[in-house]
Amino acid sequence: MQNDTIAAIATPPGVGGIGVIRVSGADAFSLVLPLLRRPGGHTALPPSHQLTYGHIVDPTTHEILDEVFVAFMHAPRTYTREDVVEIQGHGGPLILQRILRAVLVQGARMANPGEFTLRAFLNGRLDLAQAEAVMDLIGSQTEVGQRLAMQQLRGRLSEQIDTARRAILGVVARIEASIDFPEEDVPTPQPAELRPLIHVAQRQVDMLLAGSEQGRLYRQGLRTAIIGRPNVGKSSLLNALLRTERAIVTPIAGTTRDTVEEVANLRGIPLHLIDTAGITPSDDPVEQIGVQRSRAAAEIADVVLLVFDGSERLTEQDRRVSSELHAMGFATDPSLNPASTSHKRPVIVVVNKADREQFIELDELHALWPKSACVATSTLTGDGLPLLEDTIVDLVLSGTMLAGESALVTSARHQEALRRASEHLHASFASLEQQLPLDFVSIDLRAAYNALGEVTGETASDDLLDRIFSEFCIGK
Ligand code: GDP
Repeated sequence: MQNDTIAAIATPPGVGGIGVIRVSGADAFSLVLPLLRRPGGHTALPPSHQLTYGHIVDPTTHEILDEVFVAFMHAPRTYTREDVVEIQGHGGPLILQRILRAVLVQGARMANPGEFTLRAFLNGRLDLAQAEAVMDLIGSQTEVGQRLAMQQLRGRLSEQIDTARRAILGVVARIEASIDFPEEDVPTPQPAELRPLIHVAQRQVDMLLAGSEQGRLYRQGLRTAIIGRPNVGKSSLLNALLRTERAIVTPIAGTTRDTVEEVANLRGIPLHLIDTAGITPSDDPVEQIGVQRSRAAAEIADVVLLVFDGSERLTEQDRRVSSELHAMGFATDPSLNPASTSHKRPVIVVVNKADREQFIELDELHALWPKSACVATSTLTGDGLPLLEDTIVDLVLSGTMLAGESALVTSARHQEALRRASEHLHASFASLEQQLPLDFVSIDLRAAYNALGEVTGETASDDLLDRIFSEFCIGK
């Protein structure tokens, strides 16, 4: 139901200086106002968009629950475009729960996850891509990720999608006018006039698509598994990569005990480093579990840092690790570029302990990984670590730099919709070239138009909306 008034705690669970309860809907003011006791006994609605001081009282017992600031905000200049009240209380979970309960007793309904943002979308304040950007902004792990989310929130992606959609609509309109009103002398459009218009849309879509793999990595990060036999320096490398980062390091919840996963900020790319317990087969049951887990880590990794000890000759175990990876389909093509023919995941060979005398057989190593980048490092002295970082960054960017203010598609959902749009645009172009009836051209153009509309939400189904907004947190 869209007309009821919803409420939720908008600040994260836990203790904080202040906590905010957000109420939105037609009855927001009339539900909250009776709960507020102000100095001087004022009862009139305070001015919009200003903080009002007072106490919140329990509606049944009249007990004072908290000392608060309340903002009453008239529609439509609010987050949801409905009347909104925000109650700033002290940031204790119990206090906030009790204030929330008081608002619910007054007749508000507990908000579902993402429901405030859903209302902002349904009321036309945000399109779908912008609503998703809200979630990305909150979850962004690096400054670059944050900048990309902010660009999307400000509508840059939506503008670029709209440009393509308008071009498509222009072509469809011409074709359909000539089909629908043949007797009214609407001339049949000629391929020569349609071609450039389809081209505009195609170029726009393909440009967004081209940057999307990088964009996705900026948002989701690069899953990087550090693999090698015991004692080559994997944990030391993990620590070194985390330490060379002056930025935020956040442990990720829910990882297995035997693989450590941490996030390093590699020039804006969140690098999810997975340290593994070694990948070599073992008879020891406990170690076998570790082996299975590191194999699983390699399975899901976007890139593998394969570590060797340069101060020793290659061992049987080293060779086994390499053949395991070969068997798992790890390629030797060092590219993550989606345009490249190989979609296999790259391995970067790290020859560690470069500070010691080197005995490793480099030619044999090269024969094992002929196309992989190979970097000599010392986690002890730090030598080679910047080069290793450069190598990883180069892999991700594959030559594509972050284009200034232009939007970069960061969501797999958008990427998929753009891919479909691109296919239909290419198909419509082909139909035009083959001089098929214009109906054919128009069918694909409409499909492309709708696929693009899914990004901004014009043509999104209820199921899709449910799925997207259910991933939000409560109170957002
Ligand atoms: P892991 O078992 O592969 O995780 O290896 P560790 O990171 O635990 O390192 C094994 C041993 O090698 C430790 O004693 C480290 O201090 C040492 N080590 C790691 N990296 C280097 C390095 O670059 N140079 C030298 N000389 N020793 C290193």
